[in-house]
Amino acid sequence: MPGTTIFAEMSALAASTGAINLGQGFPDTDGPAEVLRAAQDAIAAGINQYPPGRGTAVLREAIARHQRRWYGLEVDPDTEVLVTAGATEALAAVLLAFVDEGDEVVTLEPAYDAYGAIIALAGGAHRTVPVDWPDFRPDADRLREAITDRTRVILLNTPHNPTGTVLDEALLRVVVEAAEQHDALIVADEVYEHLLFDGVRHVPVATLPGAWDRTITISSGGKTFSTTGWKIGWLTGPAELVTAALAVKQYLTYVNGAPFQPAIAAGLDLPDEVFGRIASGLQAGRDALVAGLGAAGLPVSVPQAGYFVIADGAALGFPDGAELCRRLPELAGVVGVPVSAFCRDEQAERMRSLVRFAFCKSPAVLAEASTRLATLS
Ligand code: PMP
Ligand code: GLN
Repeated sequence: MPGTTIFAEMSALAASTGAINLGQGFPDTDGPAEVLRAAQDAIAAGINQYPPGRGTAVLREAIARHQRRWYGLEVDPDTEVLVTAGATEALAAVLLAFVDEGDEVVTLEPAYDAYGAIIALAGGAHRTVPVDWPDFRPDADRLREAITDRTRVILLNTPHNPTGTVLDEALLRVVVEAAEQHDALIVADEVYEHLLFDGVRHVPVATLPGAWDRTITISSGGKTFSTTGWKIGWLTGPAELVTAALAVKQYLTYVNGAPFQPAIAAGLDLPDEVFGRIASGLQAGRDALVAGLGAAGLPVSVPQAGYFVIADGAALGFPDGAELCRRLPELAGVVGVPVSAFCRDEQAERMRSLVRFAFCKSPAVLAEASTRLATLS
């Protein structure tokens, strides 16, 4: 495991060189004013001490309303919701609660970098199903093969970081069937659930027949409301699974983010149109950066969701994405992240020439980045 995450390393490179940071995924503009104001109001109202262990009731109730409104899921806010310090702590609490020494955890590969690190912390074995450039879709048979009686958790990420792929219902059904057959848990990381483009629909795994009893769903306010620094995440699922995650969470952070919890609750209750505007703003950012990378001569895989687009440096004579990322500040004044950082060493070669760029940035920044990238060709 590296000493520093790739995101911290690349953000430091952007800061030291003055390059535009399209590496780490964080927006450069604030989210809905109602959400920001609600946090200020909460601080002014004295909501500044430890919240309850499962999270403040207003947020747990808003999460339950959100699951009903968007997905028709009935979730009991008192027993089936746990507020966490970002989705990261939810992932850690769940994997530490359920994975014992040697248990297998199946993910797609590339995978969000925290997955491998947390699986290792829990003593688990990381087994992966590759997804490949340019469409990054898992093969159903390979997924079936990877899930065995040794599998304790299938950790799915849809929409997917770093590829922007949204897993379709047919594939999710394969996962649920295999989980039932091998008595595995499903952990669904759905932090990009609202950041969807081109009319693509997000299907939460927990809505599929047979899934609820064995599925923990994870999300976060950071992405939807452009508040990545607040670290308000949550998980939902059957009461006994949530209670097991709480048993770990209480010794990780105990509780977190008192005044930010009611603010994220206010965000979750915003009307559908606001969620739609957030997604269409990001879609415009995606289109701008896809066009800029294309004009620079870099082939891209057009993402269906999320914050990121993957480009192939090989076309411009850069077969090594990590090397390209180290040189990009000097060559073009831009920072990206090599996709190989989302792979284990033995799989990194497959992704060697690919670089991930974030488009959760303002139009002016994306235009300037595109102008700079054009100097590459
Ligand atoms: N899962 C995925 C797939 C992510 O991309 C991120 C954020 N980059 C997280 C989890 C972590 O979310 P949070 O910041 O809420 O901890
Ligand atoms: N999730 C963000 C990304 O993928 C970064 C989060 C982090 O810095 N750990 O870029």
